[in-house]
Amino acid sequence: MAEHLQGIVGEDRVISDRVSLLCYSSDMSPFTYTPDVVVFPKSTDDVVEIVKYANENKIPIVPRGAGTSVIGAILPRRGGIIIDFTRMNKVKEVRPNDLVAIVEPGIVLDRLNAELAKYGFFFPPDPASSPACTIGGMVNTNASGVRAAKYGTTRNWVLGLEVVLANGEVLRTGWPVIKQSTGYDLTQLFIGSEGTLGVVTEVLLKLAPIPRYRMTITMSFDQLSQAGKAVTEILLSGVRPAAMELLDKLCLDVVNDVFKLGLPSREGFIVMELDGTEGSVKDELRRVEEVAKKMGAKDFNWTDDPKESLKLWTARKALVPSLAKIKEGYVLIPLAEDPCVPISEIEGAIKDFQSIAAKYGIISPTFGHAADGNLHPTMIIDPTNPEEWNKMLKMEREIFDVVLKRRGALSAEHGIGISKIPFAREALGRGLDLMRSLKKALDPNGILNPGKMGLDVETRDDPDNFFYAYLSRLKGEFQALKRAYESIRCFRCGFCRAVCPTFSYFTVESRGARGRVILSYYFLTNKVEASESLRQAYDLCTVCGHCMQVCPPGIKIVDIIEHMRRDLAEKGYINPVHKALGENILKYGNIYGLENAPRGELAKELGGA
Ligand SMILES: Cc1cc2nc3c(=O)[nH]c(=O)nc-3n(C[C@H](O)[C@H](O)[C@H](O)COP(=O)(O)OP(=O)(O)OC[C@H]3O[C@@H](n4cnc5c(N)ncnc54)[C@H](O)[C@@H]3O)c2cc1C
Ligand code: SF4
Ligand code: SF4
Repeated sequence: MAEHLQGIVGEDRVISDRVSLLCYSSDMSPFTYTPDVVVFPKSTDDVVEIVKYANENKIPIVPRGAGTSVIGAILPRRGGIIIDFTRMNKVKEVRPNDLVAIVEPGIVLDRLNAELAKYGFFFPPDPASSPACTIGGMVNTNASGVRAAKYGTTRNWVLGLEVVLANGEVLRTGWPVIKQSTGYDLTQLFIGSEGTLGVVTEVLLKLAPIPRYRMTITMSFDQLSQAGKAVTEILLSGVRPAAMELLDKLCLDVVNDVFKLGLPSREGFIVMELDGTEGSVKDELRRVEEVAKKMGAKDFNWTDDPKESLKLWTARKALVPSLAKIKEGYVLIPLAEDPCVPISEIEGAIKDFQSIAAKYGIISPTFGHAADGNLHPTMIIDPTNPEEWNKMLKMEREIFDVVLKRRGALSAEHGIGISKIPFAREALGRGLDLMRSLKKALDPNGILNPGKMGLDVETRDDPDNFFYAYLSRLKGEFQALKRAYESIRCFRCGFCRAVCPTFSYFTVESRGARGRVILSYYFLTNKVEASESLRQAYDLCTVCGHCMQVCPPGIKIVDIIEHMRRDLAEKGYINPVHKALGENILKYGNIYGLENAPRGELAKELGGA
């Protein structure tokens, strides 16, 4: 398979060695599946040839952006080929007069917005993973974020797509126009399809002008449900916040600690953004303040200083990965992490989630993009404790019961992937059968991202495999366990991809911080053994530490790398140059291996005076 793909894209754009492949076997979900090969296309033609080959040979394909999926959507459940779009990352064209841009799917959202800012525009959907996530991934999960209440989700900002279908045919959908009524909206069909209907190779985006004035408001409450009620009341007052986020005390304390924000610590906290003209924003501010007072808000504050605002929103974006700091040895397991309820149900849903968490005694911070009813009830457990796993699975069931009873959606922005498959039938009903018919029509051989969304299977593997099964092997080995815990604090957020020089150069995960952290976990838990290939992954690291500056949970990545280098050296895997230098020093007292070379002669030999 690898050889055939090398024939299509070239030798340097296919990886098939076990160590490199393992770096693609995990996302933020608790599942793990390893591909047989990863291929990096550079053009639509490359993708067409890869897909044709896979279809003819019935080989599964999983398209991949930055791998920040939370739900197992990028994991190759049936093995096969991962098509990684990291190298198809250009902004092809910006047309300011039409308010549109044409981009390749691998463009990273923050990079796109930096480019668009030069023209005075931005692409509004704003997931917290924006330093890493790609437009291809956003299109396929219908991603959104803090700005969804005012600006909508990705599907509101995509006008057209170029898609390679399962048989290798290239389909173009949509037009660069504001509205159209020209047949079925095929663009929308592919949005949120998690790579199960086609492989996106180009995206036509609608753009928005950057607002002239922005303001960030913060307020806190003595009860979380009070904050939930305030969200509903603010929305009902006619204010249209560009963003409105709700955090409980656990979340607030974590970001306060990581980002030194100095915010008062109360049970409920709201941070919101208003945008528009200065006049319109200040008018909305008055209305927000009125409602806030009525609802018993404390510590009401606002700022229009861009630096202050950026600090608050950066902290909010890093909240999820920062939660890894809540308790040593505990991990956040994203199951039932992304429901959406009608806005009138926000307060009630929050109360229900809190009583479920209290009943089971599981650490469960709640936060969310509250302005659109999207809550994130998270569960943080000791992954080596089977009792906590059992409780968490019961909580998952009960959280979804609350959501369905309150006429909510299983997922607002992350998708179904593998994680939510057991609940897909209940949520979608007959709709799931129609989805299956569409899938069959477009992908009769079932090669496109199989095993996802409940399209071909309604069960998932035990979610405790990745952590419990592996960590149990280390019982009693205190040092190894401690190091493994440090590795599993990695949320796969991919923020380190943007700053790691070796990743930028090679663009494969085993040459980046995230891959190195994943490999250390597998090494410590005996899933991968010492090898030359593993040594190279660590050897190429420049130990620059840039990754640690952007890593929200503050993982000691350089320590992980140093430990791995030492372990591998002890097992005889050492850089040949370093080895030779070390041997020379030991044997001859100099690095050059010159027998008893007096300093003067040595200097002459090296061309000195
Ligand atoms: C710390 C953190 C915070 C997050 N916050 C948010 C948030 O606020 N809002 C939100 O919506 N999500 C959030 N997410 C989830 C995730 O970042 C989004 O789903 C994002 O859109 C995924 O982008 P990606 O490039 O990483 O895609 P990937 O994870 O690589 O892929 C996602 C899905 O898209 C498919 N896909 C990718 N590229 C293509 C393509 N070219 N053609 C066809 N299918 C493709 C994949 O097969 C997969 O099914 C967060 C994740 C993390 C780790
Ligand atoms: S320390 Fe290593 S892994 Fe981290 S950014 Fe530098 S080269 Fe990358
Ligand atoms: S190492 Fe840190 S920055 Fe990199 S993916 Fe893991 S958590 Fe994110």
